[in-house]
Order: sequence, then C-alpha cells, then structure tokens
Amino acid sequence: MNVTIENSCIGCGACESICDAVFHVEAQAEVNSSAIAGNEDCIKEAAGACPVSAIIVE
Ligand code: SF4
Repeated sequence: MNVTIENSCIGCGACESICDAVFHVEAQAEVNSSAIAGNEDCIKEAAGACPVSAIIVE
C-alpha cells in the first residue's frame, strides 16, 4: 500500500485522530511510511473521513 497526501490538505487533524500510528499533522498531514503495514484498516478509514479527500491510497 502507498499513501500520499495531496496539497489540498487543510491540516484538520482528523486522519491523525483516526490513525495516529501513520498520520502526523503539523501544517499538513505527513505519512510515516514505515507504519503502513498493519494499519491498512485505519488508513482506509482516515482516507474516507478526510473532508477534502487529500489522502490518496494506492
Ligand atoms: S484528514 Fe485530510 S485534511 Fe485533515 S489533516 Fe488529514 S489529510 Fe489533511
């Protein structure tokens, strides 16, 4: 799984609150790639919850 954040991220923090092992939010969300394995379910949940659909899961 590959996870990227688009520039449309508004830094709301929702992804971090749903899946804090993978997402860290300062001005915009950042992805801890080493934590993707094993956290696929909450990554998908965070992508679905992002208000601007900025989390791209491939
Ligand atoms: S939920 Fe979406 S908009 Fe909010 S911080 Fe995460 S990537 Fe950015």
